[in-house]
Amino acid sequence: MKTIKDVFLSFQHALETLYDARETGAITLMVLEELTGFSRAKIKAFPEDEIPANAVEKLTAILEELKTGKPVQYILGTTEFYGLNFLVNPAVLIPRPETEELVEWVLQSQKLKVNSEKSLSILDIGTGSGCIAISLKKNLPGANVMAIDISPGALQTAKQNAVINEVEVEFIEQDILEVKGEKLKVKSQKKFDIIVSNPPYVTLEDKLQMHQNVTGFEPHTALFVPEHDPLIFYKAIAGFAAEHLENNGLLFFEINENYGKETVELLSHNKFTNIELRQDMSGRDRMIMAATADSH
Ligand code: GLN
Repeated sequence: MKTIKDVFLSFQHALETLYDARETGAITLMVLEELTGFSRAKIKAFPEDEIPANAVEKLTAILEELKTGKPVQYILGTTEFYGLNFLVNPAVLIPRPETEELVEWVLQSQKLKVNSEKSLSILDIGTGSGCIAISLKKNLPGANVMAIDISPGALQTAKQNAVINEVEVEFIEQDILEVKGEKLKVKSQKKFDIIVSNPPYVTLEDKLQMHQNVTGFEPHTALFVPEHDPLIFYKAIAGFAAEHLENNGLLFFEINENYGKETVELLSHNKFTNIELRQDMSGRDRMIMAATADSH
């Protein structure tokens, strides 16, 4: 592995049983960017350029780890989401591009608001790496952003990510399925303007279709739901949001593409209005926005 081209070729060869050629190309590019500090454009434009000597040994070690099926983001320890850098490790789900579309939708919804003097109050449920909460705070600096998660490991990572991205988010360790009786442990008990969540939604049936690098490495508490109750988190969050959102508040969900209709129904049973189901860039039902009624 002397030149950039050699690295691409040896990665393609070593990973061909695990990934298709396009995925392997993307993974190789991420690894090279990180190790050489070269830009994407330079890596693509100058395949004959030599790899710095100190990077060669690391490349070999990374390739060995990749061969086990471990996601490249866990090996490098970082990923990019909504133009920001995030630390990732097996305690957190790797942020997905579909979730960037959800963040974009939340931000768009605020651009239309005329009355923005009052600072917004936003809650992210099941924050994981903190990617949703942190990118919202970065783009809505006046907002008061809070985020909960059941996992102490995830919260530790999310807190580091807030520091790296220089934003303040209030992180709380709490299980949304248990909040019903208890109060939410946030400092202010005011109602929220926006509640957003990408909760676990993967069923056993979906699991059989998924790549081993997801099911074998990513945190199961962030992914899987019980077979008999695939909407368990959506029920809990819709109930919670119905009580804790302001009038005209907004609830945003990332959803399982197979449960679009059911999730919409669940929200209308909880008296949400203006429910909108949207597809992601692959054309799959992936996110929902719903509003609480205006009681005035
Ligand atoms: N979209 C993720 C995946 O396919 C799942 C995210 C989730 O369960 N909330 O792996």
